[in-house]
Amino acid sequence: VEELFAIDPLLSPEEREIRDTVARFGERRLRPHLADWFEEGTFPVREIAPELGKLGLLGMHLEGYGCAGASATAYGLACLELEAIDSGVRSMVSVQGSLAMAAVHFFGSEEQKQQYLPAMAAGEVIGCFGLTEPDFGSNPGGMRTRARRDGDDWILNGSKMWITNGSVADVAVVWAYAEEPGTDKPRVRGFLVPAGTPGFTTREIHRKLSLRASITAALDFDDVRLPADAVLPESRGLSSPLACLSEARFGIIFGALGAARDCLSSAIDYARTREVFDKPLAGYQLTQAKLADMALELGKGQLLALHLGRLKDRHEITGEQISAGKLNSTREALEIARECRTILGANGITLDYPVLRHANNLESVLTYEGTAEVHQLVIGKALTDANAFR
Ligand code: FAD
Repeated sequence: VEELFAIDPLLSPEEREIRDTVARFGERRLRPHLADWFEEGTFPVREIAPELGKLGLLGMHLEGYGCAGASATAYGLACLELEAIDSGVRSMVSVQGSLAMAAVHFFGSEEQKQQYLPAMAAGEVIGCFGLTEPDFGSNPGGMRTRARRDGDDWILNGSKMWITNGSVADVAVVWAYAEEPGTDKPRVRGFLVPAGTPGFTTREIHRKLSLRASITAALDFDDVRLPADAVLPESRGLSSPLACLSEARFGIIFGALGAARDCLSSAIDYARTREVFDKPLAGYQLTQAKLADMALELGKGQLLALHLGRLKDRHEITGEQISAGKLNSTREALEIARECRTILGANGITLDYPVLRHANNLESVLTYEGTAEVHQLVIGKALTDANAFR
């Protein structure tokens, strides 16, 4: 597909080098274990994070504090190669870099940045990002988690749900309505809550059928006492967590296409060797029509991703454009993964091939970071000026 759409010449030598380095790491270090991790429902975050850190992939697009300061496009290409292995791996990198580290980088004090960012970039300190609650996902403004003041301290109460790396993280970035001096209207602010703080408990979520090679947890806060400097001082309002989400969504625009590419190459390999009715499946017109249509969607998606990457590198990208990219990549990737599964027949339902694993993962990717419907509403609003969210 890269050749069909002549994508390589659109990349700089540095971008190609980053892409190839990440691809090699993924193939050598991660792919051989993925089926087992998926089956066991686990991901060795502690072991892998320092290796991702060494490659400069954690907080890769952030500047300073031990972060690589790479371009948005390079970050996207890295996401694509990681998600070609598994969406769980890319999720780990997204949450660490684009959500938890970005929150500290954008809204933290100098001391917080010094304390957390270099260690997080190295993968020695793991972060998570707690925005979603059991009753509030698409509408995070409804969140019930509250932070009230007690002298200089903060007292945090509430719960978060579906938090990637929640039960393994050393520090949780937690979003809560916080008391504001001089007003009775609380405001959403971010808090840094170290693991082990009394009253802060986590519970891993099991029985997932998607993103199994990724840790997902519920977080509970029961009168958690935090010092005054636990708040991210520059975070003010819901736009703060949403700014972090924009960063992570951007990575998904590239990432989801990695999963689709892996499915398509698996299906092509399979179709070439699998004989049905005395000749290879690849030689049938129905198969070729499927492959051609999938290649078109994948190539168009990659060109759109690259275009959006260039816009982001020029600081010109808008929220609606990120929504368009996230919606397109996740929806098409899921379609491609399902179609590829048909080509593999019964073999396609096993972990011997990556295809259904990717398809199942993409169900989560379609839902998190703004569901497909939420992104349709964002685009619909931009087109019509009418807000159809409520
Ligand atoms: P709901 O908001 O209840 O939506 C249910 C359905 O209603 C969806 O189809 C939705 O599109 C639709 N809907 C909602 N509003 C409208 C509307 N106005 N009009 C029409 N339809 C609508 N969250 C975090 O904070 N941190 C994490 O690290 C994190 N990791 C995750 C990892 C996994 C594996 C998963 C599955 C989720 C994760 N999430 C995380 C949560 C994720 O962001 C939410 O699941 C997502 O925002 C959707 O929220 P919800 O599940 O509550 O669905």
